[in-house]
Amino acid sequence: MRDFSSNHEALSINTATLRKQWPLERIVEECARRGIRAISPWRDQVAQVGIGAVARQLKDAGIALSGYCRGGFFPAADEAGLARAIDDNRRAIDEAKRLNAPCLVLVVGSLPGALDGAPVHHDISRARGEVFEGIAKSLEYAIEADMPLAIEPLHPMQAADRACVNTLEQALDLCDALDPERARRLGVAVDLYHVWWDPKLERQIARAGRDRLLAYHVCDWLVPTKDLVCDRGMMGDGVIELKKCRQWVEEAGYTGFSEVEIFSDFWWSQPGERVLDTCIQRHRKCV
Ligand code: ZN
Repeated sequence: MRDFSSNHEALSINTATLRKQWPLERIVEECARRGIRAISPWRDQVAQVGIGAVARQLKDAGIALSGYCRGGFFPAADEAGLARAIDDNRRAIDEAKRLNAPCLVLVVGSLPGALDGAPVHHDISRARGEVFEGIAKSLEYAIEADMPLAIEPLHPMQAADRACVNTLEQALDLCDALDPERARRLGVAVDLYHVWWDPKLERQIARAGRDRLLAYHVCDWLVPTKDLVCDRGMMGDGVIELKKCRQWVEEAGYTGFSEVEIFSDFWWSQPGERVLDTCIQRHRKCV
């Protein structure tokens, strides 16, 4: 297993971690100042600055991407909605390409309307079918663009509104069905916040292997957790066995960045400098 204790070469910052404090340009600046070598930005943050300016700034700062957030949200109430989702995913693939991302992360979606508190229907199998079709269609375009797609399984507490793919096993079944050649075109983003509890985690990470492990996201699971989305913990403050899990992904062949992704009302209320410095420190000590 790689030694993270003496440097933070493998650290990437998911820019949602600092979205309430700083615009993307400032996040890139502050990361560069600290020798952080990669980020994973969100589409809305990129759009705010303009993708050309972001691409230039990253190049000048020598900062790479560990992923691009995000595509997905395939299920829709009607045909027109399904088509809009495919178009939007194509745009996301183009943006990811422009920024040289190693993959586009997919949060696949679930019951249409649920995110706004008004699900149009309750048929999660239908949503899963639409996710399958949506990934299949996006994959054709992604292969042409040479942009790998990384399915991120989300914790089952988000099965209604954000993702009807909730375990690594389920995500890998999709990968096997849609990309049996395992040519690093379709894989998974392993976000420990979502999958740490899974009794099959070790086995499924081994099954994923190097070909399918496209991204690795870390934070911690707080006890108690007070919010389903915005109460993620800083590494070391919760119960996830971070080192054990990293050993599993590295044994499976993963050599990429370890991306800190913390949606947290608490950490969003702290000065950005403190958040970044704490990420570096905890990444060395706890990840
Ligand atoms: Zn994630």
